[in-house]
Amino acid sequence: MMFNRRIYSMLVATVIVFSSLLWGQHQDAPTTRQMNLMTWKEFQNFVPEQIETVLLPVGSIEPHGVIPNGTDNLAPERMAQEIAHRLNALIAPTLNYGVTPAMAAYPGAVSISSESYRPFVEDIVRGLASHGFKNIIVLNGHGGNTGHLQAIVPDVSTDCRVRILVVNWWSLTSEITLDVFGEDGGHAGNNETAYIQAFLPEHIHPEWYDKDMAMPNAKGSSWYAAPVPASIGLYEAGQGYPTFDQKQADTYFKKVNARAAKLIEDVIHRWDRAKLYR
Ligand SMILES: [Zn+2]
Repeated sequence: MMFNRRIYSMLVATVIVFSSLLWGQHQDAPTTRQMNLMTWKEFQNFVPEQIETVLLPVGSIEPHGVIPNGTDNLAPERMAQEIAHRLNALIAPTLNYGVTPAMAAYPGAVSISSESYRPFVEDIVRGLASHGFKNIIVLNGHGGNTGHLQAIVPDVSTDCRVRILVVNWWSLTSEITLDVFGEDGGHAGNNETAYIQAFLPEHIHPEWYDKDMAMPNAKGSSWYAAPVPASIGLYEAGQGYPTFDQKQADTYFKKVNARAAKLIEDVIHRWDRAKLYR
Protein backbone atom coordinates (compact mmCIF):
# COMPACT_ATOMS: atom_id res chain seq x y z
CA MET A 1 0.00 0.00 0.00
CA MET A 2 2.83 2.42 1.01
CA PHE A 3 4.78 1.42 -2.10
CA ASN A 4 1.83 2.12 -4.39
CA ARG A 5 1.23 5.51 -2.85
CA ARG A 6 4.88 6.46 -3.34
CA ILE A 7 4.84 5.39 -6.99
CA TYR A 8 1.62 7.30 -7.50
CA SER A 9 3.02 10.54 -6.05
CA MET A 10 6.22 10.16 -8.12
CA LEU A 11 4.10 9.77 -11.23
CA VAL A 12 2.06 12.86 -10.40
CA ALA A 13 5.23 14.91 -9.81
CA THR A 14 6.72 13.70 -13.12
CA VAL A 15 3.56 14.62 -15.01
CA ILE A 16 3.55 18.11 -13.45
CA VAL A 17 7.21 18.75 -14.33
CA PHE A 18 6.82 17.45 -17.89
CA SER A 19 3.63 19.33 -18.59
CA SER A 20 5.14 22.60 -17.38
CA LEU A 21 8.22 21.94 -19.56
CA LEU A 22 6.02 21.11 -22.54
CA TRP A 23 4.13 24.36 -22.13
CA GLY A 24 7.42 26.22 -21.89
CA GLN A 25 6.46 27.77 -18.59
CA HIS A 26 8.96 26.28 -16.21
CA GLN A 27 11.21 29.16 -15.24
CA ASP A 28 13.45 29.70 -12.26
CA ALA A 29 13.65 33.44 -12.89
CA PRO A 30 11.76 35.88 -15.10
CA THR A 31 13.32 36.78 -18.48
CA THR A 32 13.12 40.45 -17.48
CA ARG A 33 12.32 42.54 -14.40
CA GLN A 34 10.38 45.08 -16.46
CA MET A 35 6.60 44.71 -16.58
CA ASN A 36 6.66 46.54 -19.91
CA LEU A 37 8.57 43.66 -21.48
CA MET A 38 6.74 40.70 -19.90
CA THR A 39 3.89 38.70 -21.34
CA TRP A 40 0.81 38.21 -19.19
CA LYS A 41 1.59 34.50 -18.87
CA GLU A 42 5.09 35.12 -17.58
CA PHE A 43 3.73 37.69 -15.16
CA GLN A 44 1.16 35.16 -13.95
CA ASN A 45 3.89 32.57 -13.37
CA PHE A 46 5.74 34.82 -10.94
CA VAL A 47 3.28 37.21 -9.28
CA PRO A 48 2.52 36.84 -6.44
CA GLU A 49 3.86 33.33 -5.67
CA GLN A 50 7.51 34.11 -6.36
CA ILE A 51 7.62 37.90 -6.63
CA GLU A 52 5.78 40.05 -4.10
CA THR A 53 7.44 43.41 -4.66
CA VAL A 54 7.06 46.00 -7.40
CA LEU A 55 9.03 49.20 -7.91
CA LEU A 56 7.08 52.10 -9.40
CA PRO A 57 9.27 55.00 -10.60
CA VAL A 58 7.45 58.36 -10.71
CA GLY A 59 8.88 61.71 -11.73
CA SER A 60 8.32 64.82 -13.81
CA ILE A 61 9.52 66.56 -16.94
CA GLU A 62 10.94 69.97 -16.07
CA PRO A 63 14.14 72.04 -16.39
CA HIS A 64 17.29 70.85 -14.66
CA GLY A 65 20.09 73.30 -15.49
CA VAL A 66 22.36 71.53 -17.95
CA ILE A 67 21.10 67.99 -17.42
CA PRO A 68 18.04 66.33 -19.05
CA ASN A 69 14.53 67.68 -18.51
CA GLY A 70 13.54 64.10 -17.71
CA THR A 71 16.04 63.75 -14.84
CA ASP A 72 13.29 63.12 -12.27
CA ASN A 73 12.09 60.17 -14.38
CA LEU A 74 15.48 58.87 -15.49
CA ALA A 75 16.94 58.72 -11.97
CA PRO A 76 14.31 56.55 -10.23
CA GLU A 77 13.86 54.42 -13.36
CA ARG A 78 17.57 53.61 -13.43
CA MET A 79 17.59 53.11 -9.67
CA ALA A 80 14.82 50.53 -10.08
CA GLN A 81 16.88 48.68 -12.68
CA GLU A 82 19.92 48.68 -10.40
CA ILE A 83 18.13 47.31 -7.32
CA ALA A 84 15.29 45.14 -8.68
CA HIS A 85 17.30 41.92 -8.69
CA ARG A 86 18.58 42.37 -5.14
CA LEU A 87 14.98 42.97 -3.96
CA ASN A 88 13.45 40.23 -6.13
CA ALA A 89 11.13 42.90 -7.52
CA LEU A 90 9.49 43.73 -10.81
CA ILE A 91 9.62 47.25 -12.25
CA ALA A 92 6.36 48.94 -13.26
CA PRO A 93 6.41 51.38 -16.18
CA THR A 94 7.56 54.86 -15.11
CA LEU A 95 5.00 57.61 -14.59
CA ASN A 96 6.90 60.25 -16.54
CA TYR A 97 4.70 63.27 -15.70
CA GLY A 98 4.23 64.96 -12.36
CA VAL A 99 2.99 68.04 -10.57
CA THR A 100 5.30 70.96 -11.33
CA PRO A 101 3.21 74.12 -11.88
CA ALA A 102 5.95 76.57 -10.87
CA MET A 103 8.28 75.19 -13.55
CA ALA A 104 5.73 74.72 -16.32
CA ALA A 105 6.84 77.94 -18.06
CA TYR A 106 10.26 76.46 -18.93
CA PRO A 107 10.70 75.02 -22.44
CA GLY A 108 9.78 71.34 -22.59
CA ALA A 109 8.17 71.19 -19.15
CA VAL A 110 4.69 69.72 -18.63
CA SER A 111 2.76 69.94 -15.36
CA ILE A 112 -0.19 67.77 -14.36
CA SER A 113 -2.81 69.34 -12.10
CA SER A 114 -3.20 67.85 -8.61
CA GLU A 115 -6.83 67.03 -9.46
CA SER A 116 -5.65 64.83 -12.32
CA TYR A 117 -2.48 63.46 -10.75
CA ARG A 118 -3.90 62.11 -7.50
CA PRO A 119 -6.60 59.81 -8.92
CA PHE A 120 -4.32 58.72 -11.77
CA VAL A 121 -1.41 57.65 -9.57
CA GLU A 122 -3.88 56.12 -7.12
CA ASP A 123 -5.37 53.96 -9.88
CA ILE A 124 -1.89 52.78 -10.84
CA VAL A 125 -1.13 51.72 -7.27
CA ARG A 126 -4.53 50.03 -6.89
CA GLY A 127 -4.00 48.23 -10.20
CA LEU A 128 -0.64 46.88 -9.06
CA ALA A 129 -2.18 45.78 -5.76
CA SER A 130 -5.01 43.99 -7.58
CA HIS A 131 -2.50 41.64 -9.21
CA GLY A 132 -1.18 40.42 -5.91
CA PHE A 133 1.91 42.51 -5.22
CA LYS A 134 2.29 42.77 -1.44
CA ASN A 135 4.95 45.48 -1.40
CA ILE A 136 4.50 48.51 -3.61
CA ILE A 137 7.58 50.70 -3.58
CA VAL A 138 7.14 54.12 -5.15
CA LEU A 139 10.53 55.48 -6.19
CA ASN A 140 9.88 59.19 -6.44
CA GLY A 141 12.22 61.51 -8.34
CA HIS A 142 10.31 64.76 -7.95
CA GLY A 143 9.60 66.88 -4.85
CA GLY A 144 6.34 68.26 -6.27
CA ASN A 145 4.81 64.76 -6.19
CA THR A 146 5.66 64.02 -2.56
CA GLY A 147 2.60 65.58 -0.87
CA HIS A 148 0.23 64.03 -3.39
CA LEU A 149 1.71 60.58 -2.95
CA GLN A 150 1.53 60.82 0.82
CA ALA A 151 -2.09 61.94 0.56
CA ILE A 152 -3.25 58.82 -1.28
CA VAL A 153 -0.96 56.09 0.09
CA PRO A 154 -2.48 55.38 3.54
CA ASP A 155 -6.03 54.84 2.21
CA VAL A 156 -4.87 52.65 -0.68
CA SER A 157 -2.81 50.57 1.74
CA THR A 158 -5.79 50.01 4.04
CA ASP A 159 -8.32 49.40 1.26
CA CYS A 160 -6.12 46.99 -0.71
CA ARG A 161 -4.32 45.41 2.27
CA VAL A 162 -0.93 46.13 0.73
CA ARG A 163 2.23 47.65 2.12
CA ILE A 164 3.35 50.84 0.35
CA LEU A 165 6.62 52.71 0.73
CA VAL A 166 7.39 56.04 -0.95
CA VAL A 167 11.10 56.78 -1.30
CA ASN A 168 12.20 60.36 -2.03
CA TRP A 169 15.71 59.39 -3.05
CA TRP A 170 17.40 62.82 -3.04
CA SER A 171 16.24 63.38 0.52
CA LEU A 172 16.98 59.85 1.76
CA THR A 173 20.58 60.22 0.61
CA SER A 174 21.39 63.70 1.93
CA GLU A 175 24.10 62.24 4.17
CA ILE A 176 25.70 60.56 1.17
CA THR A 177 25.64 63.91 -0.65
CA LEU A 178 27.46 65.51 2.32
CA ASP A 179 29.90 62.59 2.40
CA VAL A 180 30.74 62.50 -1.33
CA PHE A 181 30.69 66.25 -2.11
CA GLY A 182 31.51 67.68 1.32
CA GLU A 183 28.41 69.88 1.10
CA ASP A 184 24.65 69.83 0.55
CA GLY A 185 22.99 69.37 -2.84
CA GLY A 186 20.28 71.01 -4.90
CA HIS A 187 17.64 70.64 -7.57
CA ALA A 188 19.83 69.88 -10.62
CA GLY A 189 22.77 70.43 -8.26
CA ASN A 190 25.82 68.26 -7.57
CA ASN A 191 23.69 65.31 -6.37
CA GLU A 192 21.17 65.00 -9.23
CA THR A 193 23.81 65.89 -11.82
CA ALA A 194 26.16 63.21 -10.50
CA TYR A 195 23.48 60.55 -10.37
CA ILE A 196 22.54 61.12 -14.04
CA GLN A 197 26.17 61.57 -15.15
CA ALA A 198 27.00 58.12 -13.80
CA PHE A 199 24.92 56.40 -16.48
CA LEU A 200 24.17 59.10 -19.10
CA PRO A 201 27.39 61.16 -19.33
CA GLU A 202 26.62 62.01 -22.97
CA HIS A 203 23.52 63.97 -21.88
CA ILE A 204 25.31 66.16 -19.31
CA HIS A 205 26.40 69.54 -20.70
CA PRO A 206 29.05 71.27 -18.60
CA GLU A 207 29.92 73.32 -21.73
CA TRP A 208 26.56 75.11 -21.34
CA TYR A 209 26.90 75.61 -17.59
CA ASP A 210 27.18 78.99 -15.93
CA LYS A 211 27.25 79.36 -12.14
CA ASP A 212 24.60 82.08 -12.43
CA MET A 213 22.07 79.44 -13.46
CA ALA A 214 21.99 78.36 -9.82
CA MET A 215 20.15 80.17 -7.04
CA PRO A 216 19.62 79.27 -3.37
CA ASN A 217 16.11 78.01 -2.59
CA ALA A 218 13.96 80.21 -0.36
CA LYS A 219 14.57 79.67 3.36
CA GLY A 220 11.30 78.74 5.05
CA SER A 221 8.49 81.01 3.90
CA SER A 222 10.79 83.96 3.08
CA TRP A 223 9.68 84.15 -0.56
CA TYR A 224 7.86 82.23 -3.25
CA ALA A 225 7.91 82.77 -6.99
CA ALA A 226 6.16 81.25 -9.99
CA PRO A 227 7.77 80.61 -12.37
CA VAL A 228 10.71 79.46 -10.28
CA PRO A 229 13.48 81.95 -11.20
CA ALA A 230 16.33 79.41 -11.60
CA SER A 231 16.52 75.89 -13.03
CA ILE A 232 19.23 74.94 -10.51
CA GLY A 233 18.00 75.39 -6.93
CA LEU A 234 20.54 75.07 -4.12
CA TYR A 235 19.34 73.61 -0.81
CA GLU A 236 21.89 75.82 1.00
CA ALA A 237 23.36 79.10 -0.27
CA GLY A 238 26.88 78.63 -1.62
CA GLN A 239 26.60 74.81 -1.71
CA GLY A 240 25.43 72.20 -4.21
CA TYR A 241 26.85 73.51 -7.50
CA PRO A 242 27.31 70.69 -10.05
CA THR A 243 30.86 69.32 -10.10
CA PHE A 244 30.72 67.28 -13.36
CA ASP A 245 33.31 64.88 -11.95
CA GLN A 246 32.83 61.40 -13.41
CA LYS A 247 34.62 59.56 -10.60
CA GLN A 248 32.58 61.34 -7.96
CA ALA A 249 29.44 60.59 -10.00
CA ASP A 250 30.21 56.86 -10.13
CA THR A 251 30.83 56.71 -6.38
CA TYR A 252 27.68 58.68 -5.59
CA PHE A 253 25.55 56.50 -7.90
CA LYS A 254 26.65 53.28 -6.19
CA LYS A 255 26.17 54.62 -2.68
CA VAL A 256 22.73 56.05 -3.43
CA ASN A 257 21.48 52.80 -4.97
CA ALA A 258 22.80 50.78 -2.05
CA ARG A 259 21.12 53.13 0.45
CA ALA A 260 17.76 52.94 -1.33
CA ALA A 261 17.92 49.13 -1.54
CA LYS A 262 18.83 48.88 2.13
CA LEU A 263 15.92 51.07 3.24
CA ILE A 264 13.47 49.02 1.17
CA GLU A 265 14.83 45.73 2.53
CA ASP A 266 14.64 47.04 6.06
CA VAL A 267 11.05 48.25 5.73
CA ILE A 268 9.85 45.02 4.08
CA HIS A 269 11.60 42.99 6.76
CA ARG A 270 9.78 44.94 9.47
CA TRP A 271 6.42 44.57 7.70
CA ASP A 272 7.02 40.81 7.46
CA ARG A 273 8.14 40.50 11.05
CA ALA A 274 4.98 42.28 12.22
CA LYS A 275 2.92 40.05 9.84
CA LEU A 276 1.12 43.07 8.42
CA TYR A 277 -1.41 42.21 5.72
CA ARG A 278 -0.29 38.58 5.67
ZN1 LIG B 1 15.01 66.81 -10.29
